[in-house]
Amino acid sequence: MLTVFNIQRYSLHDGNGVRTNIFFKGCPLRCLWCNNPESIEPSPSIMFDERLCHRFGDCLKAGNGNIILNNGKLLINRDFAGDVNILRDVCPSRALMVSGEERSVNDIIAEIEKDIPFYIMSGGGVTLTGGEPFSQGPDLKDLIKELKNRNIHVSAETSLHLPWETIEPYTELVDVFLADLKHTDGEKFVKYTGGDVKLVMNNFRKLDQTGRDFIVRVPVIPEFNCSFPEMTAIIDFSADLSNACEINFIPYHDLAREKYIMLGKEYIFENRGRISREDLNVFSEYAEKKGLTTKIMN
Ligand code: SF4
Repeated sequence: MLTVFNIQRYSLHDGNGVRTNIFFKGCPLRCLWCNNPESIEPSPSIMFDERLCHRFGDCLKAGNGNIILNNGKLLINRDFAGDVNILRDVCPSRALMVSGEERSVNDIIAEIEKDIPFYIMSGGGVTLTGGEPFSQGPDLKDLIKELKNRNIHVSAETSLHLPWETIEPYTELVDVFLADLKHTDGEKFVKYTGGDVKLVMNNFRKLDQTGRDFIVRVPVIPEFNCSFPEMTAIIDFSADLSNACEINFIPYHDLAREKYIMLGKEYIFENRGRISREDLNVFSEYAEKKGLTTKIMN
């Protein structure tokens, strides 16, 4: 089984053609700006949107003591004691939802197959994302094999923050790796993501040695990596790899704010300002001078 929190059809912004993005739960990193905070925990997460709550009370009964009403406010035990799936579909106004469910390979393939004509027409396909897709178990390999049996193009977005032994089998299966390089400095990386940058950089070198083309994705984040020295260090590292066919710059935004509130989490990275396409031009021009094909994403 695979733990999925969203299957987004008809995406036009995440690679070639019309794509279906499959979002998997679970990530080894904890990036402070993460746009998909519901992806981080591997198990299903409770999301509550107070604006939609009509105090019907169905969740109080189903919650079995994990959800109580206190002074007119719903209090939720996020470390839900018991099976959180009992809350799925209990709320008539969908103020309370459970994000993430186990789905079989066959079930996912049945949903993907509906869009095969769009992939053929547009040169699109499927993008595995999350979270960290390669954190899933062996069923992920079966899913990719089933997609390839149907001649569907498969991209995978990855943090590369996993043992190489976990990543390596996918280099033969996935058509294009979209691999994140968020920083090259170990101290900054651990402070803002909780991870080990050496693991990521070594995995980039190993991925490069496979001879497969890959795309380097750089989230451009205020305070974290948005200075010229930090960004040029990222670009220089990428330019030294033989098979980095493209570098993508992805500007920070804080549109995930509501999701943090719904998860009962603090969003400590809000209001850090906007990064415009113009701000990224200087990095893009430097990368082109270093011989990289560049793209500024939305
Ligand atoms: S690697 Fe991506 S999914 Fe994981 S915490 Fe960072 S931004 Fe979120």
